[in-house]
Amino acid sequence: MRIAVIGAGVIGTTTAWYLARHGHEVTVVDRAAEPAEETSHANGALLHASHAEPWNAPGVLWDLLRWIGREDSPLLLRPGSLPSMAGWGLRFLRYSGQRHFDRSTRVNAQLAVHSLRLLRELRRETGIRYDDAQQGIIKIFRDQASLDKALHASHLMDAMGVRHSVLDARGTVALEPALADVAHELSGSIHYPDDESGDAHLFTLKLADLARARGVDFQMKTSVQRLVREGHRITGLETDAGPVTADAYVLAAGSLAAPLARPLGLKLPIYPVKGYSITLPCGSWAGAPVIPLIDDANKVVFTPLGERLRMAGTAEFTGFDLSLNRVRAESVLRQVLKTLPSLEPHAERSQLTPWCGLRPMSADGVPILGDSGITNLYLNCGPGHLGWTFACGLGSLLADHISGAATALPLAPLAAGRF
Ligand SMILES: Cc1cc2nc3c(=O)[nH]c(=O)nc-3n(C[C@H](O)[C@H](O)[C@H](O)COP(=O)(O)OP(=O)(O)OC[C@H]3O[C@@H](n4cnc5c(N)ncnc54)[C@H](O)[C@@H]3O)c2cc1C
Repeated sequence: MRIAVIGAGVIGTTTAWYLARHGHEVTVVDRAAEPAEETSHANGALLHASHAEPWNAPGVLWDLLRWIGREDSPLLLRPGSLPSMAGWGLRFLRYSGQRHFDRSTRVNAQLAVHSLRLLRELRRETGIRYDDAQQGIIKIFRDQASLDKALHASHLMDAMGVRHSVLDARGTVALEPALADVAHELSGSIHYPDDESGDAHLFTLKLADLARARGVDFQMKTSVQRLVREGHRITGLETDAGPVTADAYVLAAGSLAAPLARPLGLKLPIYPVKGYSITLPCGSWAGAPVIPLIDDANKVVFTPLGERLRMAGTAEFTGFDLSLNRVRAESVLRQVLKTLPSLEPHAERSQLTPWCGLRPMSADGVPILGDSGITNLYLNCGPGHLGWTFACGLGSLLADHISGAATALPLAPLAAGRF
């Protein structure tokens, strides 16, 4: 079959890879010059099945209200964006009940575990490397209540195969000596030994090259303006470089999947949630952390990536605005310094690379995958804060589904029809 994939982020590129392995003739269309130029470019770099819980946890409304309009808060709701997010926002809150939260956590954890298994297979099969590390991840806590809350989610995920162990402050520092300065503040940590890390941008570029070698055509600098629908089928893509036609189409356009699908009559509940990262060369810093860390209280992650340290965090509800706000970028660094004060002399401001991107967040925090309701249009969108973690799993499941093969996991919990 000839298949056109819209979007060359980590999701579209992995989908193209698995479709090509099924023998399809694949074209990937993207408006950027290179793959992974948007949200997949400089994310937190964590492959974390352990973080499978959606962001709309019970109590999220209180957090949103508490931080409303505060530029330095980890979660920022700009009052001006409220009209554009009304429908999505109400659903986001509705899904924050305990029952939905537990269900979504289980679905995501199962998908993430499957995805990491496929990623390991891909590494074995192709030798692909992307500043990857397989050291697990440590999540640190500064109060017992937060640790207990995280343990509730960890127990749910344990049943899905996400192993964890609880450490006290001393055990935490023994595992990651870079935390010695804040040992007295820690109530403990959770170590997830099977989690991994790696540069999603590098991975996507390399996988795109491997896909090209299998015949996948990447049609870059091509913006899709409209999907042309005739009756129950898509008959082509209207792009600024002329029409693109195929037998089937995959929508993997990140946060822009929703506006692209809307004229077709498809309402995808996906909202862009902006986040920031800062990357710092740290080759000469002997005390740099070696294991990726999630700081629960300050809502930041820091991930060693080869000779660099990637720090990421913040969630901002501000529509499709991709302008880089220095205060928000600096706030990621400020939060990290609370845990890694010894970073300060190495955080030479001129060496820092700030970045921001839009997490394509579905209303229930679970990706949207599979049939769209239009016969030959398939969806792979809405992976939110976990798109890198889910990429191989989602790409492979969709390729199996389109090819008529049995899927390794049931697709019903991921289907658009659940909304
Ligand atoms: C600060 C931050 C930290 C994060 N940390 C992590 C993490 O640690 N672990 C994790 O698993 N996930 C993380 N994520 C989430 C992850 O980065 C995303 O879920 C993932 O990158 C989404 O990939 P995607 O391919 O769907 O979207 P994108 O990478 O945005 O790709 C979509 C592509 O579609 C193209 N496109 C859109 N519209 C059109 C059009 N009309 N015509 C042509 N092309 C079009 C775009 O150019 C783009 O290349 C983080 C995100 C952020 C912002």
